[in-house]
Amino acid sequence: AKEAGRNQFVLYDDQLREKRLATARTVERLREALTRDEFLVHYQPLIRLADEHIAGVEALIRWQPAGEKMVPPDRFIGVSEDSGLIVPIGAWVLREACRVVAGWHHRHGTVISVNVSPRQLREPGFGLMVLDALQTSGLPPQALILEITEGVLVDSGLVTEQAISHLSMLRSHGVRVAVDDFGTGYSSLAYLRDLPIDHVKIDRSFMPAPGQPDPAARTLVKAIIDLASGLRLGTIAEGVETAEQVQLLRELGCERAQGFYFSRPVPEADAARLIGESRDR
Ligand code: C2E
Ligand code: CA
Ligand code: CA
Ligand code: CA
Repeated sequence: AKEAGRNQFVLYDDQLREKRLATARTVERLREALTRDEFLVHYQPLIRLADEHIAGVEALIRWQPAGEKMVPPDRFIGVSEDSGLIVPIGAWVLREACRVVAGWHHRHGTVISVNVSPRQLREPGFGLMVLDALQTSGLPPQALILEITEGVLVDSGLVTEQAISHLSMLRSHGVRVAVDDFGTGYSSLAYLRDLPIDHVKIDRSFMPAPGQPDPAARTLVKAIIDLASGLRLGTIAEGVETAEQVQLLRELGCERAQGFYFSRPVPEADAARLIGESRDR
């Protein structure tokens, strides 16, 4: 039994070492991906429910290693955050998205939402980097929405001052801030009143299940929309997949929606076409 125990320990050790090696290899490949230009941005429309016009798009990163299948963000954002690589990767996404959307904004009024990880907001240079990306691209600050998660602002009850000061500074220039995955963070609701935010994005886990009546989901979505509108925050529903969900969101007064029902995230050229068509409707 003693022998078996030791073997198990050795096995565990090996697995741990292998996992660390695999992570180190991924970090190395991500670093190379930046210099080799292997990242790209897909864009998912955000629809204004009142008239189904495309009001904006969310930038969602993709990794396309040469000769391999495209890698979704869930597979590399975590490693990028742990290694700090999310700082240059996130800056690349922001600059790329501002550059691409500047043209759409001038022609169609399109706004761009960009995801910002907590790690980026701990960097003292973050605020100035964003202002520089805006200036370089010619995109007005009013056309940029930064998507952050609750944890960025409130970390186990403590308000994280560095993040707040970046966001307050950027808001004074006209940039807007959305709380992503709202309702999944378990933090106090008071921060909605006290912190520098403009919109809440209702997490897709709150969408009623398709095909059957879901009164509990309806109650939750209604409560979130009422709370947000009462505080004069904009509301965006994500993960909208069916016509019934769209109908419900309209009834409840949600302003904007995003999801496969309207469009999946698509490459730049397809997004440009969708936005052009949306205006002509
Ligand atoms: P997120 O910010 O919550 O983005 C929404 C995710 O939901 C996207 O997955 C999108 O493709 C997916 N989605 C949109 N509509 C629907 C729908 O109707 N049904 C379902 N089932 N899913 C829908 P994606 O592109 O794989 O991104 C996953 C996550 O990776 C994002 O979640 C975000 O947290 C992170 N991410 C993506 N791009 C970036 C980035 O540039 N920087 C950072 N820090 N994180 C990013
Ligand atoms: Ca997001
Ligand atoms: Ca989200
Ligand atoms: Ca999410």
